[in-house]
Amino acid sequence: MEVTPMVREFAKSTRTPFVLMDLKIVKRNYERLRDSIPGVRIFYAVKANSHTRVLKKLHDLGSSFDVASRGEIEKLLNIGVPASKLSFGNTIKKEEDIKFASDRGVSFFAADAEMELEKIARNAPNSKVYFRIAMGGSDSDWPLSRKFGTNVDHVKDLVVYAKELCLNPIGVSFHVGSQCYDKYSWKEALMKVADIFWFARLQGIRMNTINLGGGMPVNYVRDIPTVEEIGEVINESIEEYFNFMDRPTLFVEPGRSMVGDAGILVSRVILRSTKDMKDWVYLDAGVFHGLMETIEDLRYTLVVDGKENTPCRSFTLAGPTCDSVDIIYDEVSLPEDITLGDIVYFLNAGAYTVDYNTQFNGIEGPYECFLDDTDLKEEEEVSQVVSN
Ligand SMILES: *Cc1c(COP(=O)(O)O)cnc(C)c1O
Repeated sequence: MEVTPMVREFAKSTRTPFVLMDLKIVKRNYERLRDSIPGVRIFYAVKANSHTRVLKKLHDLGSSFDVASRGEIEKLLNIGVPASKLSFGNTIKKEEDIKFASDRGVSFFAADAEMELEKIARNAPNSKVYFRIAMGGSDSDWPLSRKFGTNVDHVKDLVVYAKELCLNPIGVSFHVGSQCYDKYSWKEALMKVADIFWFARLQGIRMNTINLGGGMPVNYVRDIPTVEEIGEVINESIEEYFNFMDRPTLFVEPGRSMVGDAGILVSRVILRSTKDMKDWVYLDAGVFHGLMETIEDLRYTLVVDGKENTPCRSFTLAGPTCDSVDIIYDEVSLPEDITLGDIVYFLNAGAYTVDYNTQFNGIEGPYECFLDDTDLKEEEEVSQVVSN
C-alpha cells in the first residue's frame, strides 16, 4: 500500500497511532495465492490481523481459518463463519479449548507431542489430526522452528500412536518460518512429508493432507520471492515426491502475506533529543504498541511525511513507554530535520502490529482504519476497537 496524497491528507487530521488498511489488497493477496497453487484450501492465520472487517472480507472470499485459541474460534463463529471452516493449528492447546472447539464442530487439530494427542483423543474423539514437523535453518526473519514441530522420526511414532488412540491421522503440517526468503524451504519440507506419508502407507495408514503452513513473505526492505514463484516450487515438488499416491489435499495457512502489504502504520514524533552524542527520536508507537516485530530487527520501510527529499542521518528510534526494551531501531536512517509532530509511516505493517498491541503504561496503541473505494472510514472502527 502506497502513501498516496489521500493517505497523507487523512493522516494529518487523524489521531495517531493507527494502522490504515486497504481490503482491496487483502482480496488481491487472497486471489494470487489461490491461483498459484491449484486446488489449495486457504486457512487464514487469524493472529496476523484479527480485526472483524479483515475476517469478514476473507470469509466473503471463501477463506477458511487457522485458529489458536477459544477466543479466536468464538470471534469467527460470532461473525457467521461455520466451524467446518476452522482448523485448530496451535500445537499447544488448553484441554478445555479442545473440548470447546470439538463441541462446536471444529474437526481439524494439530499436534507434535504424545500428550497433545492424548488431550485431543479425550476431548475430541475420532477427530482429524495432522502432525507438525519442525523446520530448521531456513532464511526467515521470524523463525518458528524451535518452539514448534518435531523431527520426522518422532512424527512417524505420533502417526502410529494417533491411530492407537482412535484418532484420524490425515496428514502433516509445517511452517518454514515467518517472512521466509527461500522458496526452496517448501521443497525441503515436502520431501520430509513424503517420507512420512510413505512410512504411514507401509503401516496401512493412508494420509493425504499436506498443510503448507504460512511463511510467504511481504516486501519490507529485502527482495522476496513472489507467491507465484513459491507456488511453482510447491507444485513441482508435489509432482516429484508424491507420485506414489493420488494428488494430496493441500492446505495453506498464510498470515503475513494476506494482510502485511495491505496496511500502513501511521505514527507521530513526540520527542527528539541528543544525548551522549547520539540523536534520539521518540514516537507515539513502539515495541509495546504495534511494533513488536522490530525486537528481532524486522525492518520496515519508513517514510517521514514531507521530508522525503531531505538528507538523512542515523538516529535511534524508540517508543513512548517507560521501558528500555521499547527501542524500535538502535540505528535507522531518518531525515536530519525530523522533529516534533512529524508523521512517520511504517509501510507494509498490516500484519502482526495491531494484534501485538498492549495497554502497557496506559498508553493507547494503534487502532485500525479502513480505506474503501470511496472514502476513509474511521469513526466506526474506533468505536469497534474501544468496545472490543
Ligand atoms: C502464525 C502461523 C501462521 C502464519 O504464518 P505467516 O508467516 O504469518 O504466514 C500459519 N500457521 C501457523 C500454525 C501459525 O502459527
